Amino acid sequence: SNTEYNFKDYIRVIHDFPQPGIRFKDITTLLKDGGAYRAAIEEIRKAVADMKIDIIAGPEARGFVVGAPLALALGVGFAPIRKSGKLPGETITASYDLEYGKDQLAMHKDSIQPGQRVLIADDLLATGGTIATSINLVRQLGGEVVGAAFLIELAYLTGREKLEGIDVFSLMTYS
Ligand code: 5GP
Repeated sequence: SNTEYNFKDYIRVIHDFPQPGIRFKDITTLLKDGGAYRAAIEEIRKAVADMKIDIIAGPEARGFVVGAPLALALGVGFAPIRKSGKLPGETITASYDLEYGKDQLAMHKDSIQPGQRVLIADDLLATGGTIATSINLVRQLGGEVVGAAFLIELAYLTGREKLEGIDVFSLMTYS
């Protein structure tokens, strides 16, 4: 059963990546283990099962490896959130601040229907900037963001404060 997994044992912490002082949480060591990956998605599925989710939205690229299998497990669709310029159809965009500079995320205008109950999935919640921008996009499309799910939450960066009114689930928390 899933309780056999201590998921943090599958996360590799890499020091000074991508910059000095950062302790990067590498999820590839979890993904390459079929049992642990499956159990992680199943734990998240159970945590969000009662939210009546219509569709999952996830930001590239690691949001895809959490959001897409979660969508299959829940039996709902998946809407990709991408860096602007990648999606071929008509899009809406939202900007966000990076540590150095700005970036833009985009969604197809028809990827979410007004009134749909949306769960946003990503690998990791840090400052919450990526998720706040994702929420902005989903709301522009008329979606109702009811939940957010992550493999990992870095609690000391307080990203959760940007998710007021949203049901937040993290499989692992680092304090
Ligand atoms: P935030 O926008 O919350 O500050 O940062 C979260 C985003 O940056 C996520 O999309 C995540 O993929 C990426 N990220 C930031 N730090 C890490 C980390 O230590 N490990 C991984 N895997 N992703 C990170």
